[in-house]
Amino acid sequence: MSRLIHCVPRQLALLVACAVIFSSVCLKAQAGTVTVPVVYYKLPNGLKVVISEDHVAPVVTVAVYYNVGFRVEPKGRTGFAHLFEHMMFQGSANVKKFEHAKYVEANGGNTNGHTDFDYTNYYETLPSDRVELGLWLESDRMRSLDVSAENLKNQQNVVSEEIRANVLNQPYQLFEWIDLWENAFQNWNNSHNGYGDLAEVQAATLDDVRNFFKTYYAPNNAVLSIVGDVDANEVKKMVEKHFGGIALQPLPARPDLAEPPQTKEKRTSQADKLANLPALATGYHMPAQTAPDFPAAALLSLILQGDDSSRFYQRLVKEKELSLDLSRCKGAFSIEFLQPVGIKFWQSTFAGNTRVVSR
Ligand SMILES: [Zn+2]
Repeated sequence: MSRLIHCVPRQLALLVACAVIFSSVCLKAQAGTVTVPVVYYKLPNGLKVVISEDHVAPVVTVAVYYNVGFRVEPKGRTGFAHLFEHMMFQGSANVKKFEHAKYVEANGGNTNGHTDFDYTNYYETLPSDRVELGLWLESDRMRSLDVSAENLKNQQNVVSEEIRANVLNQPYQLFEWIDLWENAFQNWNNSHNGYGDLAEVQAATLDDVRNFFKTYYAPNNAVLSIVGDVDANEVKKMVEKHFGGIALQPLPARPDLAEPPQTKEKRTSQADKLANLPALATGYHMPAQTAPDFPAAALLSLILQGDDSSRFYQRLVKEKELSLDLSRCKGAFSIEFLQPVGIKFWQSTFAGNTRVVSR
């Protein structure tokens, strides 16, 4: 899952992140070369709206980011945020099961969602004259998700199969996506397995799903982003029409995500029946995104292991041929998503006799 359970095109993700989080920085950094118009406002029900006109192509992306990810899922329910993401495609008051994707695809678009540490997002990319379809689809499930026992059972089985296929039956995946993180953090919210323990995924109840939806999938816990070949004033009217009537909800207190500082190196190792070669993974805690050192740390990470031109790849794989490959948890574009207690790691597959997983 690359810690993201469905993949979002990176450029889109970056653009949205820019629009939502760093709009002023983006504008300043690119002054004189690129203008990124961003309209930002909030509906009376608390829904934050970001509209960015981009007329380079006749397409639009409608995305909703909910301020909930696997760091806040309940104890005893690991994987629940991801399971819930699947439930969002099971139908709502006016959109029957499987119809969401059919509507989008029949109009020449594509749709997906993914679960991350602190947010879960959903999006539709469509021809720009179908922007209202995307808004209608997203508003319908925000207002009236169909939470049924049949849908829950069905998606528990789908998610369990996803875990078996992507993690349990893949070489290196356990240490790369689960064990590294569990050992790097002490606070359960940061360290637990976001993909989920199979037994806990299966133990989720209808009440869990209903409570989660009511608690976190409220307009005042979401950001709606519309980017593309649209008129911002026209889109504003559509947003009001489709989202204005959705009731806000009281939001729960955020859990304490503080992480005690790590004072010395940690190491661990494990056997992996599916792996033919030993592998090494190393992780470093990164400064918070708002910390003065974050830009330097991000740049250092790119220089060392950003892509195939990076120093590690060039030295370990190309020059010395010590490693068959070098993979990165976070690519050049994704680093913006590192959390305040985020971790950066790289993994190498070394030819040799030792099997080590190092943190
Ligand atoms: Zn999934």
